[in-house]
Amino acid sequence: MAELAAALQEDVLDRFLRYVRIDTTSDQDSDTYPSTAKQRDLGELLERELRELGIDDVELTEHGYVFATLPGSAGPTVGLIAHMDTSQDESGANVQPQVVRNWDGDDIVLPGDPDKVLRAAENPILAERVGHDIVTTDGTTLLGADDKAGVAEIMAAVAYLAAHREIEHAPIRVGFTVDEEVGRGVDHFDIDAFGADFAYTLDGAELGRVDDETFSASEVRIRIEGLSVHPGTSKGKLVNAVKLGARLIERLPRDSRSPETTDGRDGFVHPHRFAGTAAEAELRFIARDFDAAKLAEHEQLLRRLADELAAEEPRARISVRVEEQYRNMKEFLERDPSVAEAGEEAARRCGIEPWREPIRGGTDGAMLSERGLPTPNIFTGAHQFHSVLEWASVQDMAASAATVVELAKLWVEPEWATRASGTRARTAASR
Ligand SMILES: [Zn+2]
Repeated sequence: MAELAAALQEDVLDRFLRYVRIDTTSDQDSDTYPSTAKQRDLGELLERELRELGIDDVELTEHGYVFATLPGSAGPTVGLIAHMDTSQDESGANVQPQVVRNWDGDDIVLPGDPDKVLRAAENPILAERVGHDIVTTDGTTLLGADDKAGVAEIMAAVAYLAAHREIEHAPIRVGFTVDEEVGRGVDHFDIDAFGADFAYTLDGAELGRVDDETFSASEVRIRIEGLSVHPGTSKGKLVNAVKLGARLIERLPRDSRSPETTDGRDGFVHPHRFAGTAAEAELRFIARDFDAAKLAEHEQLLRRLADELAAEEPRARISVRVEEQYRNMKEFLERDPSVAEAGEEAARRCGIEPWREPIRGGTDGAMLSERGLPTPNIFTGAHQFHSVLEWASVQDMAASAATVVELAKLWVEPEWATRASGTRARTAASR
């Protein structure tokens, strides 16, 4: 119901503005866990705030996760998960959010860099949100709504349920993770200790969207060892790894199989990093597809290009390493359709018409689903992630928090609790 969202609105916003000001950028190249110590700053704040809600089993683990339980009256134990870190794509330090109240539809100029402007004409989803309160950056950083919107929504929902003890709801397990943006979000996530029968990540975008399908993903690293000789005396000897790498990149398909030429259900290979010297170079690719066989074809394409290069230049040593990152969660969630359906039903109870669309990306839930904890993804109401043009609607964030409250309530209803019993048995058996 819309009143519920209205009741949650100010709390969601307060929390969101508090959390985005804490720098939690994760670091792809770090060997520590979490990858950056500063992610704990937000973990410590959340730990304190959860205790203030009267939750006494709050835990900030050695790996930086925050876990807590809100006891319930009956039904399955429902996990609620969001990640605390933000992407390296833009700075997450000194985030200065601005709130445009009751937005009138005019251009929103970002005050720290007036060249950065959010325009209704360029943002169809924003254009539909005239009258909303819009949160943006100041134009110099990302906002961090990915995924602090999810964190704020879970916290607001839990705070609401903790304050309204008369509301019957299922037991809730809260899990805030680290390092999702560097693909290591659940490396140390102990599903047994978490103890949920199934879970939801709050890490999606558009209002009403419930995701039960992600890409399947792998990273492919091609290493090229050339032969470096002083350029003054290298005639006939030098084998330049940088040039060999460039040659391989040039042979990638131009009009297909790239992020910039695909959408919908089409996958791609994407060179995202090229580093090295004349002596040795490394090309890093990500490969993505919804279909496992097609993902294998993308990997095969890269292997073939590497083989061709090796055949042309036998003096170079070229190696290919493929690492699976996550799998399309659909194949795991299909066994327990009621988990995602409950997400849709909860949205409906908030007056939102839910819909599904495959995510061209991954979530912590993809890995958790594969490991035996069914975990679809729910919208947060924030948009243009990883960018200085990131923005969120306060009304949509409140609708997301309200959906979480309805979800917790729904699972005590006998009809839904019965539907959960198969899932509970399977989750227990997979441990
Ligand atoms: Zn995210």
